[in-house]
Amino acid sequence: MDLTRKGATAATRAAHVAMAAALPVDDGGDFALAERGFIGTIEDAEVPGAWSQRPFAFLEGERPDTVNPSLWRQARLNAHHGLFEVTPGVYQVRGFDISNITFIEGETGWIVIDPLTSAQPAAAALKLLRDSKGDRPVSAVIYTHSHVDHYGGILGVASPEEIAAGLRIIAPEGFLEAAVAENVLAGNVMSRRATHMYGGLLPKDPQGHVDSGLGKGTSTGRVALVAPTESITHTGQTLTVDGIEIRFQVTPDTEAPAEMNFFFPKFGALCMAENCTCHLHNLYTPRGAQVRDAKAWSFYIDEALEMFGADTRVMFASHHWPRWEAGPVRTFLTKQRDLYKYIHDQTLRMANHGLNATEIAEALRLPPTLEAEWHTRSYYGTLSHNAKAVYQRYLGWFDGNPANLHKHPPEAAGRRYVAAMGGAGPLLAEAGKAFEAGDYRWVAELVGHLVFAEPANLEARALQADAFEQMGYQAESGPWRDFYLTGAQELRNPRPPSDKPRQASPGQLRTMPTDHVLDSLSVRLNGEKAGAREIAFTALFTDTGERFAVRVENAVLHHRAGEGGPEVAITRDLLIDLVMGARPVEEAGLAGPGAAALTELLGLLDRFDLWFEISAP
Ligand SMILES: [Zn+2]
Repeated sequence: MDLTRKGATAATRAAHVAMAAALPVDDGGDFALAERGFIGTIEDAEVPGAWSQRPFAFLEGERPDTVNPSLWRQARLNAHHGLFEVTPGVYQVRGFDISNITFIEGETGWIVIDPLTSAQPAAAALKLLRDSKGDRPVSAVIYTHSHVDHYGGILGVASPEEIAAGLRIIAPEGFLEAAVAENVLAGNVMSRRATHMYGGLLPKDPQGHVDSGLGKGTSTGRVALVAPTESITHTGQTLTVDGIEIRFQVTPDTEAPAEMNFFFPKFGALCMAENCTCHLHNLYTPRGAQVRDAKAWSFYIDEALEMFGADTRVMFASHHWPRWEAGPVRTFLTKQRDLYKYIHDQTLRMANHGLNATEIAEALRLPPTLEAEWHTRSYYGTLSHNAKAVYQRYLGWFDGNPANLHKHPPEAAGRRYVAAMGGAGPLLAEAGKAFEAGDYRWVAELVGHLVFAEPANLEARALQADAFEQMGYQAESGPWRDFYLTGAQELRNPRPPSDKPRQASPGQLRTMPTDHVLDSLSVRLNGEKAGAREIAFTALFTDTGERFAVRVENAVLHHRAGEGGPEVAITRDLLIDLVMGARPVEEAGLAGPGAAALTELLGLLDRFDLWFEISAP
């Protein structure tokens, strides 16, 4: 059984040739934009322990046949790194993380927009700026939206003392709730799927991770969540920050639940946050998340055009490179606006004709005017999974066909498919023919049944991995490539089983409001174990003074502020240690009926293993 990584097949090479012929003309325009205003950088954007572009040096060579030609081009664009002048007074450091950090020259210091994912690259970016443009203090921080790659590195640009002294930190209304809530209740499964989406387990090489489409990947330094001091609550709100006027537009439920665009009249500069980037973004993020609202997204781009279009001389965003001059900016924003609206409208048009999500995803093509642009391409989101997202938002998972209403789950279906095909041998023979013909999607479907019926069948795992791998090589989308290649890697190198859950980091719980912490426990309550048991106690948090009535009935965990049942006095940190299993409850020094009830509840909580299987049962 050959479980090694393979090269590209003839079918994959042919698919690349066909794609290259269908791509827009490359006039070098994007490369000129990505290089414009370059001031300087540090070698390989090397930030020890957190970030480096060195592993991507292979992008300087010829395209290997294991990488989609369009993704290769985007990967090269995303390899640019350093400090850039957007316009005098506005500077960006790009390529020090998956996202951009932007600096605005205020009257007394630097206003920082989006301090990256982690502290070290943000500090390195600030140093690069100061060395070249002046050693001034940071006068304010703006978070464009509630995703970690836009706030997590704040401690690299502001010290805890500066924050405590009242540094202005400005964010859209709902920022904090969205930042803590979006990934908590489904956190384990999202984190696990993110290991596939961002290729973090893959080698960085021509047969592995080359790019995420949105950027190279996220930095791995120190992450923090510092609450904003000011919220932007409505469109049209204007602030003067360090002497600079900023006009805001709130854009809730677009790329993030809390997001905003804003305009600097002094510089004629428009920040489009992550609402307009140089590719098709995700309406559905394949790591798993609630689907986004394409209609709202498009509406807010249109509103930005209306509000700021006439005065904008340069537009920049939280990822990728800027656009200069009113005409090109307007064209770009108009096409981005219509990209999301087109997918929304055409998906529903076809759904109203009776096509299901899979059929729509297969049929949907962009109109020629949008297809002619590089910035509409599927480097991150894809036309395929975004069409499915629109369908899901309006119609959900069921396509209306009763055959799909109550299907067997994968292992049960797998056993039946394998039996119907006469066993593993005939199935593999058929799949082998499909592989030779380059029909990898069919191989994945057929062999998927066998892998779920017989997970120890090495021949099945090897063939499935080979099919995933070719689909990865063919993918234009960074996340699709990384999903396929990570799936292949895990089929070839199964992780040894463990009798203990291997959990993801518990850090996030400590930054959450107490009611969110309790909320997160409700999805860990094992309903079968809880059965008919009834538990009630009052949790008195001695450090915060909060009091919560906690109750289990009907196998459901409830909580509300107030009293209910015997009291247990506890600190937040101790509760988090107990629920994470960091300290056994017997050693916590708790006593009394309230403590007994809490102990009973702890015994009913599941612990999640990050490393559950995805491509196999
Ligand atoms: Zn981002």
